[in-house]
Amino acid sequence: MVSDLASGIEASILGDIWLSNEAFENLTVLCDDFGSRFAGTEGERPAVDFIVSKLKEYGLENVVADEFAYTGWRRGEAKLEMLTPKERELETISLAMCPPTPSGGVEADIVYLGPGYPELFLERKDEIDGKIVLCTSQPRPSGEMVHRRTKYGYAVKFGAVGFVFVNHNAGQLMPTGSIRPAYRMAGEISGIGVSWETGCYLVRQLEKGPVRVRITTTDVVDPEAISWNVIGEIPGGEMEDRVIAVGAHFDGHDIAVGALDDGAGAVTVMEASRVLAKHKGEFKRTIRFICFAAEEIGVTGSTCYVDKHIEEINGIDLMINCDGAGRADSHVYRVSGPEHLVGYLQGLVDRMNYDMRVVKSSSAASDHWPFYLQGVPAVTLSAYRGFEEVARVGRGWGHTSADTLDKVNPKHLKDAAMVLAQSLVHLANEEGVIAERTPVDEIVMRLEKSGMVETLRIQRKWHPGSIR
Ligand SMILES: [Zn+2]
Repeated sequence: MVSDLASGIEASILGDIWLSNEAFENLTVLCDDFGSRFAGTEGERPAVDFIVSKLKEYGLENVVADEFAYTGWRRGEAKLEMLTPKERELETISLAMCPPTPSGGVEADIVYLGPGYPELFLERKDEIDGKIVLCTSQPRPSGEMVHRRTKYGYAVKFGAVGFVFVNHNAGQLMPTGSIRPAYRMAGEISGIGVSWETGCYLVRQLEKGPVRVRITTTDVVDPEAISWNVIGEIPGGEMEDRVIAVGAHFDGHDIAVGALDDGAGAVTVMEASRVLAKHKGEFKRTIRFICFAAEEIGVTGSTCYVDKHIEEINGIDLMINCDGAGRADSHVYRVSGPEHLVGYLQGLVDRMNYDMRVVKSSSAASDHWPFYLQGVPAVTLSAYRGFEEVARVGRGWGHTSADTLDKVNPKHLKDAAMVLAQSLVHLANEEGVIAERTPVDEIVMRLEKSGMVETLRIQRKWHPGSIR
């Protein structure tokens, strides 16, 4: 049963979101005024200031732009020249965190590994040393995404001197995405993205014989960059020191405005904060809203947040990450752990009378992950897409120049904000334990058992002794 207090708040916040266009207006400002908001770009700090001013306007407390240091990266011009069977320059861009090549570039023959699943790398590992690996972004037929950082990591491990990542979706769109986590390091070898059409051209040449190419990249790695996560709170009452953390990254990739990934999630979090702040004093737990920076370069903002605030981590009862929220007309909760959170949240959404699924997830590639690794119960709220669709399009417009505002439906943002805000009313007022924390040793053990450690090691994201 929903308490009278909760049901009164619920009616008010849901009506408020439904009748307001604030989320879409905020997204329009983020995209049109500040561009990509990618770490280190001109629009990043103005976007931070905008989010700070909005959270203050909504009445949140302890609003700050919380600084952290990381390895920065700025895009330079990238060149891909085919030398054999004939000379031809092909269109390309660097993948994020790509290092510059030595002057004169890097020259080698191409080895094509199809979709670049780990087993394909293992099968053909003896052919990779000294070569340039070509593989696509194709997910598995089951819909499981094999992360680009995994494919790049295997290429480095087996001695490749370059990595060419092909968008598996047609449309002359070159993909980007980070190759190493910026909270630790930049890439060791050049990684570049090409369109499906360019990839197909190269594969056709390979069918005739060896293909030799030269890659030249001129990106700039800055070991002393700084950025800011934006934090704001609605302080709780009788359980003020217990916290529900809610976050989404506000940065997109530098080649687009990141309207879907993840401007939509960021404004979903802001919208929930707006309507809930009007009910300050009616929640037992503190709700902490965090708009993360630099997620697109290896989940860097949230990792640095956890590193900086590790002494407060035991106060966090639940972390809800909204990367992927607001992109479709129905939503799903993806639980990283612990397992009993699945049943708890299913009960919660059933009580809310909202038709949505709660499923288990093993994804490490977003802002819930550093919290989960410290034992915090963690879940991601994202738009629901069937596995057939994921298997076919993967990220879709994401990580290309086509991730633009016109792809976002304002109604989908409302749906996301309504589910999130309504969930938060219940979670912040939960009398009992929401979910038990998982001891860090147990998480390490589980990741070892599931084989995830190997993947993280390949990605240079396995460092159980330190947060970053
Ligand atoms: Zn994202």
